[in-house]
Amino acid sequence: MPDDDHMSPGQFRELGGKLLDYIADYREGIADRPVLSRVEPGEVAARLPAGPPLQGDSLAGILEDIDEIVMPGITHWQSPGFFGYYPANSSLPAVLAELLCAGLGVQGMSWVTSPACTELEVRILDWLAEMLGLPDSFRSDSAGGGGVIHGTASEAVLAVMVAARERRKQAEGYAGGELTAYCSAQAHSSVPKAALICGIGTENLRQVEVQEDLAIDPQALESAIEADLAAGRSPFFLCATVGTTSSCAIDSVAELGRLARRYDLWLHVDAAYAGNACVCPEFRSMIEGVELADSFNCNPHKWLLTTFDCSTLWVSDRECFTGALSVTPEYLRSPQGDRGEVIDYRDWQVPLGRRFRSLKLWFVMRWYGVEGLQNFIREQVRLAELFAELLRPDDRFELAAPGRLGLVCFRFVGSDDENRELLEAVNSGGEIFLTHTVIPVGGKEKYVLRFATGSISTREEHVRRAWEIICSAAAGDA
Ligand code: PLP
Repeated sequence: MPDDDHMSPGQFRELGGKLLDYIADYREGIADRPVLSRVEPGEVAARLPAGPPLQGDSLAGILEDIDEIVMPGITHWQSPGFFGYYPANSSLPAVLAELLCAGLGVQGMSWVTSPACTELEVRILDWLAEMLGLPDSFRSDSAGGGGVIHGTASEAVLAVMVAARERRKQAEGYAGGELTAYCSAQAHSSVPKAALICGIGTENLRQVEVQEDLAIDPQALESAIEADLAAGRSPFFLCATVGTTSSCAIDSVAELGRLARRYDLWLHVDAAYAGNACVCPEFRSMIEGVELADSFNCNPHKWLLTTFDCSTLWVSDRECFTGALSVTPEYLRSPQGDRGEVIDYRDWQVPLGRRFRSLKLWFVMRWYGVEGLQNFIREQVRLAELFAELLRPDDRFELAAPGRLGLVCFRFVGSDDENRELLEAVNSGGEIFLTHTVIPVGGKEKYVLRFATGSISTREEHVRRAWEIICSAAAGDA
């Protein structure tokens, strides 16, 4: 390839400036775009050429296609009118860190492949553990714990389930009984997926019934464990969910921790969304008992202003964890690794290669400071409470679950079909976007609308406007 086919650093400086302008303009004008993409299936693909370009193009040409082909197919997650799913907020300091990460272009699979990539991550995860009020046993400077950044909560639960499986198989007295795992019926689909992938099988995952508050029923859990023991099986893993995906229900970590100790189960805490709120001390009661857990996970890429992907996982016994995941061929050995002087993060995850993700968290922490992050979470919780307050006196609507953190689950008092139509009407206007779930309400499975605050640009005026839109849709004016 001739040298002049590459973008020179000089061109990069000039064109990169244009791209930054493009992103800044996008963020400035984001509120004017319809939140939910309106393209039909196949529409974006149909606008793309069937084959790759033979000759190179200019950045201007590429950006033109971004505008015409890609943008219509974008749902604007950073829009102030985005109230769907859980947020995936992406602050601009984190965007800059992503650029730096790509610019450095390092692989951080081993300490030796870029020592700063490992050592910054170790330190940042100790900082975050402190910010969330996690026990010292999870810190890298404790006797045996430590943290790591995974791409997603799904990878994290898979990795810890493998470690738990190996711990059980190597335990004294393990007689080879079938391994069984436990979570609530409201746990995220990543738990059954992990069971599927790591060979436990979904048939050996007990998705235990929940109480009226949609948290796992500890008595039903204990009965399920006892029944498995009586049948000669070997219970080994328990996942507590702090903030379920559907309704932000919170399992009692303390109660589950006691059961985990009694039955020698690995206790994993999936706090993918809600865990981020622990940066505010007033929300930490929801993880009371976390010192009894073997692992804890939350996703700063959801609610802590750190661009996807950034899922932080801590374990209290790193030797047990890495012992299960470590495979070291000759070509990956290093003197420092062989001497056990350093962390090689490839032993803490499923893939080998890894990005310099801690840059994002570091930029975010330094830009906002702990107080800035606390202010953001508190404000988004306040906005959800405001929405619940607007809704409560209106007898056309009911709360379908207690409002928790930034999530309000509600329904139009009527049939599931009416609620489905209401959601469609609300979203079709383009100004706001909400999603739905189905959860037990008063003992019966019902279609429910979810209003999740937390998008980076959402302010009180957007929440009030959202309420107006929902009311006029309910009145049939939309
Ligand atoms: N756990 C919970 C409670 C979630 O809400 C989610 C996603 O919304 C996940 C796990 C999966 O997260 P990820 O996309 O990082 O795998």
